[in-house]
Amino acid sequence: MSTEQAFLPFALPEIGEEEIAEVVNTLKSGWVTTGPKAKQFEAAFAAFLTQNAEDSQLECIAVNSATAGLHLALEALGIGPGDEVITTTHTFTATAEVVRYLGADVVLVDIDPATLNIDVAAIEAAITPRTKAIVPVHYAGLAVDMLAVLDIARKHGLRVVEDAAHALPTTLEKELIGTLGSDATVFSFYANKTMTTGEGGMLVTRHAELAKRAKVMRLHGMNRDAFDRFTAKVPSWYYEIVAPGFKYNLTDIAAALGLHQLKRLPAFQLRREQIAAAYDAAFADLPLILPPQAPEGDTHSWHLYVLRLADDCAVERDVFIERMYAKGIGCSVHYIPLHLHPYWRDRYGLTPEQFPHSQKAYERMLSIPLYTAMTDADVQRVIAAVREIALS
Ligand SMILES: *Cc1c(COP(=O)(O)O)cnc(C)c1O
Repeated sequence: MSTEQAFLPFALPEIGEEEIAEVVNTLKSGWVTTGPKAKQFEAAFAAFLTQNAEDSQLECIAVNSATAGLHLALEALGIGPGDEVITTTHTFTATAEVVRYLGADVVLVDIDPATLNIDVAAIEAAITPRTKAIVPVHYAGLAVDMLAVLDIARKHGLRVVEDAAHALPTTLEKELIGTLGSDATVFSFYANKTMTTGEGGMLVTRHAELAKRAKVMRLHGMNRDAFDRFTAKVPSWYYEIVAPGFKYNLTDIAAALGLHQLKRLPAFQLRREQIAAAYDAAFADLPLILPPQAPEGDTHSWHLYVLRLADDCAVERDVFIERMYAKGIGCSVHYIPLHLHPYWRDRYGLTPEQFPHSQKAYERMLSIPLYTAMTDADVQRVIAAVREIALS
């Protein structure tokens, strides 16, 4: 037997027999695109967010990615040319690109170095007469101070769409992200997220008008609702196109995965918390800045476990990651901030000096593996590697 250990990837999904059986069942059912499973998944997701409590206004709209969901939410809110949308530079480009799809402009702001989330004071400083919306990102799975964000939004008459791609399940003052008072919240079921449908997302809102528009735009701008009053009389083949919509619907094959991933989410969450706690304990004495914790009583989804090398850490970040790879452990960086990417940098003339906290965090950060498919031995292996490199 070789002593060489297999490569431990940065992320892996955990797909069980129930998911596989449900997908097979879907394939055999004759209905493979959006249909009963997608509807069932939307209902199950709403029940999860509301903890089965009465909240008849909360609508969950399944889409084929979080990017699609963010686009639909902002479109439904009427964001367009001449408008500005404020978000964090320390995110994935999907958060911001959807604003450009609509011809509006992105205003990037810096993060709070304590939380790595958008700096709330910087939001307020960035507001202009053209500002229409704020898109906070619950980075790594730690909730943004939404009470402050919603306060600013109310004061300035702005819309709020939460990018909750990392935040399932995350709470703020014991309320799940997705149930707060923003206009819409969007979750991602991409392969490396806390639950997956391969590709997929969920747009969650309590705005009936937003929901109606998003459902129409999700599927080519097709509308049958105009005829709901006469349901019995509308032939099944009839529809009207009311706008040049998109192709953003979630397939039943993907929803089949989602139904069972969602059932397993509480167990997934416990495992993620366990691994994060093991890392916290093992790294406490190292020249590393550990990830910020959720306030007592709140849930951090632990989508990512992000270490930052302290100023007295002798190893450079790039070298740290190279050495982790040399030990057969995949790592990543979340994120190369948007202000460094050519498109965003050049379009808005951005410089690192405008985002000192994001820039410094970026230069010193790495994300280490944290996922439910890791064994205890995998976790110990990551711990040993990080300790050895950080102390070298
Ligand atoms: C993954 C991710 C997205 C996009 O999600 P998709 O489902 O892949 O479109 C958006 N924002 C953030 C912060 C993400 O991490």
